[in-house]
Amino acid sequence: MKPEQIATNMVFWIGVVVATPAHSGVGGPLTYRSELPLAAGQLVRVSLGRREVLGVVWELLPDSGGLAPAQTKAVLGALEGLAPLSATWRKLVAFTAGYYQRSLGEVALAALPPQLRELSTSQLARRLKRPISDTSSAESLRELVELSPEQAAALAQLEADHRPALLFGSTGSGKTEVYLRAAARVLAEDPEAQVLVMVPEINLTPQLQARFEERFKHLGRERVVALHSGLTPAQRLKSWLAAHAGVARLVLGTRMAVLASMPNLRLIVVDEEHDPSYKQQEGARYSARDLAVYRARLEGLATPESSASPKNCSVILGSATPSLESWQATLVGRYQRLTMHERIGSTDQAAGSLPTVRLVDMNHQPKHCTLAPPLLAAIAQRIARGEQSLIFLNRRGYAPVLACHDCGWKSECPHCSAYRVFHKIDRTLRCHHCGFTERVPRACPSCGNVDIAPVGRGTERLEEHLAELLQGITRPDGSPLVIARIDADTTRLKGALESQLASVHAGEVDVLVGTQMIAKGHDFRHITLVAAVNPDGALFSSDFRAPERLFGLLMQATGRAGRNAEKGAQSEMWVQTFHPEHPLFGALKKHDYPAFSAQELADREAAGMSPFGFSALVRAEARSQDLAQGFLNAAAAAAQAQALPGHDMVTPYPAVPMTIQRVANVERAQMLVESSSRVALQRFLAAWQPVMAATRQQAEFKPLIRWAMDVDPLAI
Ligand code: ADP
Ligand code: ZN
Ligand code: ZN
Repeated sequence: MKPEQIATNMVFWIGVVVATPAHSGVGGPLTYRSELPLAAGQLVRVSLGRREVLGVVWELLPDSGGLAPAQTKAVLGALEGLAPLSATWRKLVAFTAGYYQRSLGEVALAALPPQLRELSTSQLARRLKRPISDTSSAESLRELVELSPEQAAALAQLEADHRPALLFGSTGSGKTEVYLRAAARVLAEDPEAQVLVMVPEINLTPQLQARFEERFKHLGRERVVALHSGLTPAQRLKSWLAAHAGVARLVLGTRMAVLASMPNLRLIVVDEEHDPSYKQQEGARYSARDLAVYRARLEGLATPESSASPKNCSVILGSATPSLESWQATLVGRYQRLTMHERIGSTDQAAGSLPTVRLVDMNHQPKHCTLAPPLLAAIAQRIARGEQSLIFLNRRGYAPVLACHDCGWKSECPHCSAYRVFHKIDRTLRCHHCGFTERVPRACPSCGNVDIAPVGRGTERLEEHLAELLQGITRPDGSPLVIARIDADTTRLKGALESQLASVHAGEVDVLVGTQMIAKGHDFRHITLVAAVNPDGALFSSDFRAPERLFGLLMQATGRAGRNAEKGAQSEMWVQTFHPEHPLFGALKKHDYPAFSAQELADREAAGMSPFGFSALVRAEARSQDLAQGFLNAAAAAAQAQALPGHDMVTPYPAVPMTIQRVANVERAQMLVESSSRVALQRFLAAWQPVMAATRQQAEFKPLIRWAMDVDPLAI
């Protein structure tokens, strides 16, 4: 078919969404004509400008909408052999685009595997033809562990109540086993049912993936697939196609998987639901956790083609320290709460009990000491007993700043409003914001003083310092102790993290130093002491979610200790602080998340913050701070002048510089917009989009680099 040839007999008009850049003015589908009837949800190739691009048939139109045939283009071809994306999937994408203020095409196309855009129709046909080796076997009776009473109760409640469930279970209480059983039930009940399990980070998937693959291997090898950004484009396409065709019964993925096409989705699990990595931080800034809840409802409303009545889709959010949003939802009954307090094996006294939390009042310790003497003594004792310790500090590098004490010079980044971090290993100053790296100067660049010194401490320096402090301490067999460090710097190479973790598991390391990376997910069996060196910063941060994150991190860190430590070894969590009276630490001592959340929620309610209020941030970038702020303020003034829908219930605050105001020579400003009504905020933002785009077109704002909205931002 020649693209420009117009059929004389029959023409079909269709709306197609393509990947349009944000703010290009194209929000919805574009009109194309086709000689063949196409179905909504079908993937097609169309020309856009001079390019041939992938598009999704969004709707069938009754006519050309007033466009002359010559003004329209014909569809170049359909991707044969690929079932149309379901109406539910399209609704989910439309909701995501609308709620997060992005174009339909951007969200729809970003949700498809990139390789789908590149393959020719014949290449795709070959991929689709590959037979799946159906190795499924009748379910053999495998020995499953006996459920704990709490696990059994949680599963029973899940079956009885179909509201979204918050599985509130301490680390080691057996949440994963509950996910496995819930998934098994859904898969057994319906031979077509699919399950989506989401985890926060790729590096957590291998262990979990192995557990799911093992449990469901009777379904056949190709029935459990992974979907995350660590896959090669070919693997990602393969997983996506398997999910889309219904071949994959269980998809294990990161946040991107929430938009995967799964025609028979019956259960969504969001593990560690409080984790900030569920929020996408660029493009469409969606929250995969929130979308999971929305999607489950949507799937439950839809009527699958194969049956007459809608089928339920459940959602389980799991965490030991839930987000305050999810917790609040259980308090008002929107979600059900399933509680599991007990660690598995806790009747077995020491092995299962939670670590003792010890607060070290740094006001009573020698000035400027990094590790308090009692903590150091406790670490030495562990080494002597052949046990492991884990020390964490949320700052990588050797020292956060290098300074000259003569003239006051500091290692500022010339391109950012931030200090460059001193990395001793290769003697560089590195900017953690723009990446600018230089060798450490021999002398102060400003006065020539050769005595420039590191200020403060990062993980690299802590590791070095520990080696000095623990000199002479040996293991039970008399061999020298081993200190290792795990952070973003030591794990840059592929496989590095795995091999470092393996050596910790093998007991080759006595003291492990690291950033929050090591506080998450890894199950260290022989660690009996965990210490947080300097967590105070988050107590008084301007970011209202900082205490929530700190509490979660510390609770998670306590969970690292001795989940399986040998009997008799009582685990301890040490926290060094100048504010031992802070209620956050009081709640931590008792492992009492409900007490912590009650305090935090009271504060948030008084301040009208999430989950009691709703907000969006608009960010703008320009060469000058004045221009970036000027744009935001002008757009807000225009909204006010035009009395946009919802404006009377929405408060825009004046534009301010972002915390790190300049990165790579770009000035960054932001404006907070708040409302007590989610609906009013949504209506306002939708109406404000075109006003912002028009403001941007004004001559004075032409030089603006970019602007973007972040709805339900994580950090303000
Ligand atoms: P969580 O996900 O809550 O941290 P897991 O599901 O990983 O906890 O369980 C912790 C450990 O206890 C795992 O090693 C798991 O295999 C084991 N486990 C879970 N449930 C049971 C059970 N009912 N009986 C015995 N062991 C269990
Ligand atoms: Zn100097
Ligand atoms: Zn920089």
